[in-house]
Amino acid sequence: MAEISGKMYIVVGAAVIFLSYLVNTMRNTKAFSVFMVVGGLFVGVGIVKIWARLNRHTELHDEHLTKGHLHSVDKAVPPHLRPATEPKISHYCSRCGFPMRMHDIFCAHCGFRAG
Ligand SMILES: [Zn+2]
Repeated sequence: MAEISGKMYIVVGAAVIFLSYLVNTMRNTKAFSVFMVVGGLFVGVGIVKIWARLNRHTELHDEHLTKGHLHSVDKAVPPHLRPATEPKISHYCSRCGFPMRMHDIFCAHCGFRAG
């Protein structure tokens, strides 16, 4: 059995909905509303089929991208292996403005006692 394409489902479903609507209107009845539901199901199946096919392509594409990405990832240097940075300057001498580190008590520039 050949696979029926999603487009075919949508076309058939739309035709069923249209004909049911036509008959309902002509006969002034709602007896054929059930066929409109069936037609809606056909359209739904068709959309799902098309969506599934598109999704399959997207997944393959994503997988390819992910593999390529993994090969190019650089191993991040853990923080404790990175070169030590300069001692943090926490404040400035209130007399001369010289930068002072966290635990400096006296200004290295003018000898002013901070804190
Ligand atoms: Zn100073």
